[in-house]
Amino acid sequence: MNELYKKQVRSALVSWFLEEKRDLPWRKTKDPYKIWVSEVMLQQTKVDTVIPYYERFIAKYPSLESLATAKEGELLKEWEGLGYYSRARNLQAGVKEVVEAYGSVVPSTRKEISKLKGVGPYTAGAVLSIAYGVPEHAVDGNVMRVLSRLLFIKEDIAKPKTKKIFEEAVMELIDENNPSAFNQGLMELGAVICTPTKPKCLLCPVREYCTAFFEGKQEELPIKTINKKTKLHKMKAVVIERDNGQILLEKRPSKGLLANMWQFPMVELPTATHTVEEVVEHDYGIAIKKENELIAFKHIFSHLVWEVESFEGELVTEKELPAPCKWFTKEEVSNQPMPVPVIKIWNAWKERNNI
Ligand code: SF4
Repeated sequence: MNELYKKQVRSALVSWFLEEKRDLPWRKTKDPYKIWVSEVMLQQTKVDTVIPYYERFIAKYPSLESLATAKEGELLKEWEGLGYYSRARNLQAGVKEVVEAYGSVVPSTRKEISKLKGVGPYTAGAVLSIAYGVPEHAVDGNVMRVLSRLLFIKEDIAKPKTKKIFEEAVMELIDENNPSAFNQGLMELGAVICTPTKPKCLLCPVREYCTAFFEGKQEELPIKTINKKTKLHKMKAVVIERDNGQILLEKRPSKGLLANMWQFPMVELPTATHTVEEVVEHDYGIAIKKENELIAFKHIFSHLVWEVESFEGELVTEKELPAPCKWFTKEEVSNQPMPVPVIKIWNAWKERNNI
């Protein structure tokens, strides 16, 4: 990249961003904690979804200290529906480290901030550039898409080592005088103009400097090989109510997918000849009669898919329950942190029972 090219790209991008940027709540602050929260929420989640969560979260936990001392159950409840719950736990763990080891001041160097739990290279660069004005790269999928087109980079972005090429490209191009607007400009361009399909090149501020546009190959980039096949799990979930109106929930293990969240008893049938009743009795020690179907849907996680069928179950006999299971009143059920697929089942049950 020659100096003139770099100067033109950064100037076009920064001026466009300053003029056209969307009015988003986290753009009204330079508080590194709040920017950190927003960047964590925005990972794998759309801006429109994040806005109300961010506003509620910051109202409830306005400072590092308030988040550091929050109870995990309450924190997960605030995060409920955003998915990827380990993000919330890691954020809290990182925030606790800042309170305890850094006197409640978010570190301002890549070396230190990267040591915090849950802070990867992207989040580190985003917080450093936006909150502290440090010229550091913040490369995610959006930024790789924009740069692969702009600079005609044909490396496979599915390979982890490719990221380095893009990080180096950002470090070459970045506006040292306004790294915040430069990095946010790249992110914004990827979100609203240089979209995965049908990029709006005619509205693009860097079109004049874009090789893919000149080659007519903008939709062929970035190169991304397909991931391994996602695993499909056929889950059968049962909402069981006992005579006193309480509902049975089970807490998921403290590690792994949806850790510590609550769900209705959920089983996978080992073979097609097993029934839901048999497997529930085997796994939970209670006899039930499967009744009305509630809702069936697919829920896609990053590397696996749940194909969920859910039912009402009548309790026939009750024995001692395994440790992670507990009966809750209906009000208590609604107050437990539950992942999106479980909330869907709960809403279907309430609708059927006019609650
Ligand atoms: Fe993306 Fe088109 Fe702009 Fe190139 S000209 S950066 S392909 S929107």
